[in-house]
Amino acid sequence: MERAAIVGLDKRHVWHPYTAMAQYIADTDPLVVVRSEGVYLHDADGRRYLDANGSWWVSTLGHRHPRLVRALTDQLGCLAHASLAGVTHGPAAQLAAELAALAPGADRADVTAEQKLSRVFYSDNGSTAVEVAIKMAAQYWAQNGRPGRTRFITLSGAFHGETLGATSVGGMSEFRDVFGPLLFDVVHVPSPSEEGGHARALEQLRTALNADPDGIAGVILEPVLQGAVGMWMSSPDFVREVREATRAVDTFLIADEVFTGLGRTGARFAVDLAGVVPDLLCLAKALSGGLLPFGATLASERIFSGFLGAKDRALYYGHSYCGNPLGAAVAREVLAVYRDEDVLGQVQRKAPRVKAAFEHMAATIPGLVRPRAVGMVGALDLGGGGYFANSGWRVYEAARRRGLYLRPLGDTVYIAPALNIPDADLDVLLSGVEDSLREVAAG
Ligand SMILES: *Cc1c(COP(=O)(O)O)cnc(C)c1O
Repeated sequence: MERAAIVGLDKRHVWHPYTAMAQYIADTDPLVVVRSEGVYLHDADGRRYLDANGSWWVSTLGHRHPRLVRALTDQLGCLAHASLAGVTHGPAAQLAAELAALAPGADRADVTAEQKLSRVFYSDNGSTAVEVAIKMAAQYWAQNGRPGRTRFITLSGAFHGETLGATSVGGMSEFRDVFGPLLFDVVHVPSPSEEGGHARALEQLRTALNADPDGIAGVILEPVLQGAVGMWMSSPDFVREVREATRAVDTFLIADEVFTGLGRTGARFAVDLAGVVPDLLCLAKALSGGLLPFGATLASERIFSGFLGAKDRALYYGHSYCGNPLGAAVAREVLAVYRDEDVLGQVQRKAPRVKAAFEHMAATIPGLVRPRAVGMVGALDLGGGGYFANSGWRVYEAARRRGLYLRPLGDTVYIAPALNIPDADLDVLLSGVEDSLREVAAG
């Protein structure tokens, strides 16, 4: 189909995510992509764009990694889908065992069998992985002697997904306020990335825990890197102290590693940077390498045990595509590629270049503030302005003219490319970001 025809149908019928549709229909000339390969998206006009955010952070091994494509087509040749209701299959069983073996604390002698994340519940994406964790925590307390524990503590600026449960534990007013009456009550505490930092956030968190030890079902956080709010970064020490605070009152820590999990920060999981074992850990995005939607929630043996016994103690929850064999087969291959291609080592080698490049840009281009980086994420802000500020879009346009797909978060310009991005492409990406920022700064 011709480019113009695709855009015509799109503008008549497709309702785009996170998009003001009137402006989009009137003004946006969308990228029409026809093919993807490695770190590039190819459009209908024969141009290619370096994908600076791995297509919303999922394409961590580049687009259509040949081994992932082969794993998918092999699996498609024998079993595409079966429910996990009284049925099981190799990909789901083997992946669960592999995730349990890689999970934070799996190989540590000081972590008890109860604390180990040895159980895997599958779902469809990051939002549902979070939803599962919320329900597990709430139901665990309801049927294990602490029925008053129904509230969660969450950080300002948190993003945990799109379902109403995940929105309830979110901390971005842009996405919450309109649904206010539909959301359940949570306790918001400051983020360690905000003014007052780590100390203020921790103090308020401890106060909230101590004020209501019988009411708090758990603390949920994006460890080390709060992505969607604008790449807010904080020290792993914060995660460690939150773990200690939750242990002190024996409540749960839920690590939402939908973005950070599987190498984004340079560690396998961001909680590994802190040596922390959470009670629940949510995964999606990188887990299926950008091929298809897939989510998993890892739960401690303790939480799992709290659902055993009479039938009415079970977790009555499940999605049609839970543990889908295609997704599970691809996820297994993702883990194998990480091992065979030393993806974490690649991130550790490239991360200092990302950090240095963002620091250099902020030091030499007027109006840029707060350069920051962790693993394969580099970010800076274009002065003040908040989520709806417009300057980020000028950078987007300047980058697009240079063959980069660089979607900002408000006035935060960032990169989160494939973790295995070749060095030469990383050079192209970093210099393209710099040139685009210089152009916009020059006015
Ligand atoms: C993207 C994201 C989610 C939601 O994942 P979806 O797959 O988009 O539903 C949840 N938590 C975090 C930290 C995320 O970055």
